[in-house]
Amino acid sequence: MTRALLVVDVQPDFCEGGPLAVAGGNAVAAAIAEDVMARRESYSAIITTQDWHIDPGAHFSEAPDFADSWPVHCVAGTEGAELHPSIAALEVDAHFAKGRFTAAYSGFEARVLDPGAAPEDESGALLGHWLRERGITTVDIVGIATDHCVRATALDAARAGFSTTVLAPLTAAVSPENLPAVYTQLREAGAIVLTLGLEPVSPAP
Ligand SMILES: [Zn+2]
Repeated sequence: MTRALLVVDVQPDFCEGGPLAVAGGNAVAAAIAEDVMARRESYSAIITTQDWHIDPGAHFSEAPDFADSWPVHCVAGTEGAELHPSIAALEVDAHFAKGRFTAAYSGFEARVLDPGAAPEDESGALLGHWLRERGITTVDIVGIATDHCVRATALDAARAGFSTTVLAPLTAAVSPENLPAVYTQLREAGAIVLTLGLEPVSPAP
């Protein structure tokens, strides 16, 4: 069993004070950092994804519907698109960025963002490829937002054959009232949704 932690879109623009603030975002950032420090040896890699927009078309709107269109957020190269300071302080093995020229909810659409690379550089490896190259078969997923990018990332992970666990207490949702339906969808796709304690789940065979 080789396990990675995927930290999805924990960025200032999605936390309190940002243009697309998700309630509990800052607390989740701090809790993820604390959890990683406590369980670092459980993971062979810590991966981050970032929403990283240059010109994502209709994903941005001045009259957003908060389902398919959103206020301007996470513009590549701006402070709000950086990793949350709590996450940036961690030892991260690889940074992935998604959504340069289109909406991208799933981390599996993200590509490695090498330090020093131009924001528009899309030459990096896709997340799924990167994980497989390192023999990673199991992923734990945390971050923002439970009902959007975390959900899409977990669905893609499970569909791609990774043993997938969403650590729900380390996520924050845009619409908490939708979580029961989101959890059902994830479980039907084969993911584990851990909603209470955060003891390590049984390893994949
Ligand atoms: Zn976006």
